[in-house]
Amino acid sequence: MIVISSHIFSPFAHHIPAPLHKVRLVLDRHDTLSAAFTELEAILISIFNVERVYIFQYRKQQQSLTLHFNSTSFAPHIHLPISPASIAGYVALSQHPLIVSDPYDEKVLSAINPYLRFNDQFDQQCTEMTRNILCIPILQQDTLVGVLQLINTIDNFTYDISLGEDVAELLGHTFGYDLGGTKRPLDTLIHHGLITEKALESLDIDNYLNDDITFLLPRLVSEHGISHNIIGISLSVYYQLPYISYDSEHYHVYSTAHHLNVSYLKRNHVAIIAANDDKPIILMAQPNNMTLIREIERALCIESCCIAVGFPTHILQFLGEPAGMFGLGDMSDILDEISTSTNTVDEDLETLSDDTPAVVRLVSRILHEAKRLNASDIHIDPDKSAATHVRMRVDGICRDLNNIPASHHNAVIARIKIMANLDIAEKRIPQDGKLTFKISDQLFEVRVATIPTVAGEGVVMRMLTNGGALPIHKMNLSEQNLSMLKRAVCKPHGIMLVVGPTGSGKTTMLHATLGHLNTRDKKIWTAEDPVEITQSGLQQVQVNPKIGVTFASTLRAFLRADPDIILIGEMRDKETAHVAIEASLTGHLVLSTLHTNSAPETITRLLDLGIDPVNFSDACVGILAQRLIRTLCPECKIPHNATSQEIEFIYRQYGDSIIAELNLQDQIIVYDAVGCECCDDIGYKGRTAVHELLTMTPELRSLIYKSANVSKLARQAANDGMRTLMQDGIKKLLSGITDIKQIQILGGLE
Ligand SMILES: [Zn+2]
Repeated sequence: MIVISSHIFSPFAHHIPAPLHKVRLVLDRHDTLSAAFTELEAILISIFNVERVYIFQYRKQQQSLTLHFNSTSFAPHIHLPISPASIAGYVALSQHPLIVSDPYDEKVLSAINPYLRFNDQFDQQCTEMTRNILCIPILQQDTLVGVLQLINTIDNFTYDISLGEDVAELLGHTFGYDLGGTKRPLDTLIHHGLITEKALESLDIDNYLNDDITFLLPRLVSEHGISHNIIGISLSVYYQLPYISYDSEHYHVYSTAHHLNVSYLKRNHVAIIAANDDKPIILMAQPNNMTLIREIERALCIESCCIAVGFPTHILQFLGEPAGMFGLGDMSDILDEISTSTNTVDEDLETLSDDTPAVVRLVSRILHEAKRLNASDIHIDPDKSAATHVRMRVDGICRDLNNIPASHHNAVIARIKIMANLDIAEKRIPQDGKLTFKISDQLFEVRVATIPTVAGEGVVMRMLTNGGALPIHKMNLSEQNLSMLKRAVCKPHGIMLVVGPTGSGKTTMLHATLGHLNTRDKKIWTAEDPVEITQSGLQQVQVNPKIGVTFASTLRAFLRADPDIILIGEMRDKETAHVAIEASLTGHLVLSTLHTNSAPETITRLLDLGIDPVNFSDACVGILAQRLIRTLCPECKIPHNATSQEIEFIYRQYGDSIIAELNLQDQIIVYDAVGCECCDDIGYKGRTAVHELLTMTPELRSLIYKSANVSKLARQAANDGMRTLMQDGIKKLLSGITDIKQIQILGGLE
């Protein structure tokens, strides 16, 4: 269970007795006492000439000794109280070594202490009767950590006490952590150099000193990068209890725990769980709360049961809360923010609502809900005549979520403004900012825009897809498009454009492409507004026109910074477009986006901006137009034979001349949206992209030189192998991931 041990070991005095030296060699060879025990036992048996060796572990929480280390096969579960009711218990109490010449002789026992008893549990399970005992406390820095018991010597221990004490001291020194735990819950982390005492104190001195470290845990993970497991081990060593993390495969909620009040359990961070054997385990964030343990044992009608230590967030997960939902991590951070915000904010907040925590929870719930639904935007719309509406955009469509009572509208808006560092007193002009929130120790960023309406202040929040890029093969590019795209961007210089309207997934596509190119031998700079996706290996710059950090100026700076690949979030203006083309002609690969509807149209748009046609056709390696369409819910979609109208639609839109390449059968199967529990009765779930990839050919190039019109360019591109958005959409319709309605929307035909 406990795997960390200390190997700091101060050498003893100059003359180390040979037997002790043997013990030390054994201890030094092993990381834990459990691992060392078999060898240790053999050596102790020979040194002291005894029959049996026991090592008890002192359990602070239970005020008892547990027989943890013995290699005999009977392996009894022996727990002894710290009292004269047993020899080991008495030694733990007195903290002095003791020789008992005959434990069955009451006169011998009462001579030591009138209440001293011999607990004959051992003898009942052993063939050999206990004839005599040497029992020595194991101390670590004067704190009891265990008891060493040697049984049945031939020479009655007359001269072995001091050697026994030396062995016990060595044990305490080497495996004190194993045995006795630590003084404070996080000492193991300090001990192993994962965090300094100072850093720990600066995190939260008050709570750190008084044992309640539940608020501290998420910060250790997020700010110091210490894993849950290592913190778990530290807690395990301190509490002398096993650590259990959330693991629904191996643990379930204990069968008779269901009648316990869940909010009581949540409030106290306790879950009653069980493994396959269905023996109850009380999993607690603060397992030293004996009152609570007794209460639960009474409620479950059990005498005693296993106790384990766990993270509050994991315990809440066992209790059925989604990961991170109101975990202490995010709540405490929010509370922190409030307490550290300026006085004026505090005062204002109080005048807005007398129930701030409820509002804090409400906003937190809205953000969590948005993440759960995978929403792209949250709208909080004031309504003069009724409640405030909360809506979320999921897969491109706005959905009503719930309403906020009009009385809480201002408080909710104020709460969001505080989180986004906006001026809460200013309600007449639009403001924008950013806020961060945490789910399961993962940070999410949200762009916040406030807009004053006649009904009051409204808020729109854009969820930034914080996190890494998707791999390029997950972008649902057709096989042909994927290989063409890879070929286009493997060129050392040139410009690759991804085009489409707002919300067509351009950024996701660009980052997937960059992810494909992102290797250690290339320097990659990106200028983005905003930086939504981060990838290690990239140098990403947030554009900020307010302070003069524009796309064009950043791009110029990049050119002085030895780039191989440059991503420019958007070619918004002529100047940026010019510099980008220039860069791509001087030995760099440039990736960017443009708001145009099709790949061929992009060319004429750029030429209209005054880009030199020769330069552009030389620079361009490809243009990828993209749209997002909704995909059918796989749980409830139903197939049907395409009707004659649908077949006609497919033929007409794909083009009679090339339809043969689709290898259509006589029966064409298409799918319809239905709606089920899984998709909230919508029939669709998620979105996918359709693509149109134009690559440069000599024929196309000569048309660009002549500034040919869009339709001529499009015809040539088609001859060169480009398939349009509509054609790609029809392929995806035939593959069954979307329906004909989505394809009609794509073509603007509905
Ligand atoms: Zn469904």
